[in-house]
Amino acid sequence: MHQCSIERHSKVEHCYEVSLQVEIKVLEKDETNMRLLVRGADVPFMNALRRIVTSEVPSMAIDEIVIVENSSILMDETIAHRLGLIPLRTDLDGYNLPEECPCKSEFGCNLCRVTLALDVDTKEGGRTVYSGDLVSENPNVVPVSDRIPILKLAKEQKIKLEAYARLGKGKNHAKWEPVSMCTYKYYPKIEITKRCNACGKCVEMCPRRVLVKKGNSIEVNDLIACTLCQDCASACPESPPAIQVSGEENAFIFNLESTSALPPERIMAEASKILDGHLKELEGEIKVRKSEKS
Ligand code: SF4
Ligand code: SF4
Ligand SMILES: [Zn+2]
Repeated sequence: MHQCSIERHSKVEHCYEVSLQVEIKVLEKDETNMRLLVRGADVPFMNALRRIVTSEVPSMAIDEIVIVENSSILMDETIAHRLGLIPLRTDLDGYNLPEECPCKSEFGCNLCRVTLALDVDTKEGGRTVYSGDLVSENPNVVPVSDRIPILKLAKEQKIKLEAYARLGKGKNHAKWEPVSMCTYKYYPKIEITKRCNACGKCVEMCPRRVLVKKGNSIEVNDLIACTLCQDCASACPESPPAIQVSGEENAFIFNLESTSALPPERIMAEASKILDGHLKELEGEIKVRKSEKS
C-alpha cells in the first residue's frame, strides 16, 4: 500500500482561508485499474480531479489519415472513425502536444506526430483487418490490443492508408480520454444497531453482497462494494431501520480504469500536476487582482 498527501491552500480576498490536507491511500491497483481512498477532500476537489483525468490528461490517438486505396465496402470516413477510437500506448515523455510543439506546423513533426501504416490485400481470400495490422514507426506507440477489428475485406479487396497519431485531450475529443471509466463515491459507513433481530432480510436484499449473516449477527463483508443504495434499510422490518448506511464526511473512493494508453498511476500523477498548475494560476490571478485594487 502506498500513501501520499496533497496539500491545497487558497486564500480568497479577506474573507476566509481554505486549507485541505488530503490523504490518498491506494486500495487496489493492477495494470489498468486503480482504486483510491481519499480522505480530507470535498466534493469540488474530487470532481475537479475526475474532470481533469477525463478531459485534460493527454493521450495519443489517430487524428488524421491519408487513404491510398480502399476497395472495401466501408467508406473512408467510417474507417477513419474506427481508427481514431483505437487506444494507443502513449509515450507521454517522448512527444509534445501539437499546440506546444516548436515546429508550429499543421502537419506536425517527429516530436508531435507518429505515423502508422496499414497495407492489407486479400488475394488469398477474405479476412478481417485488425489493429495488429497497423505498423507503427515507433514501437512504443502501438494499439493497446492487436485484436481490435477495423474492417472486413472480401477476396481481392485492398486497404492501404497512412495514419497520423498525435497527443490530445479528452475535452477536444473523447478518443483522447486516457480512461474508460473514472468515478468517485462517498466512503460508505454502515451501522447495525442493537435492535437488529438478525432476520437476514438486509443480507438477501443487498445487490452487492456487502453484508453477511454469521450466527445471530449481521456483519459487513465488503464495505467498499456498497453503493449506498439504501435497499438494505428499506428491507429492514424494524422502524426505524436497525441498519443505517451513510457516506463518511470528506472521505471518498476514487475509481479509475485506464484504456491502457497510460498506466493508471501515471494518469493520476499527471492529473495532480495539472490540478496543481490550475490552482497556482488561480492564486496568481487573485494576487494580480488584489494588487490592481490597491
Ligand atoms: S446500501 Fe445497498 S449496497 Fe450498501 S449494504 Fe445496503 S443494500 Fe448493500
Ligand atoms: S433487516 Fe434489519 S433486523 Fe433484519 S437482519 Fe438486517 S438490520 Fe437486522
Ligand atoms: Zn511538431
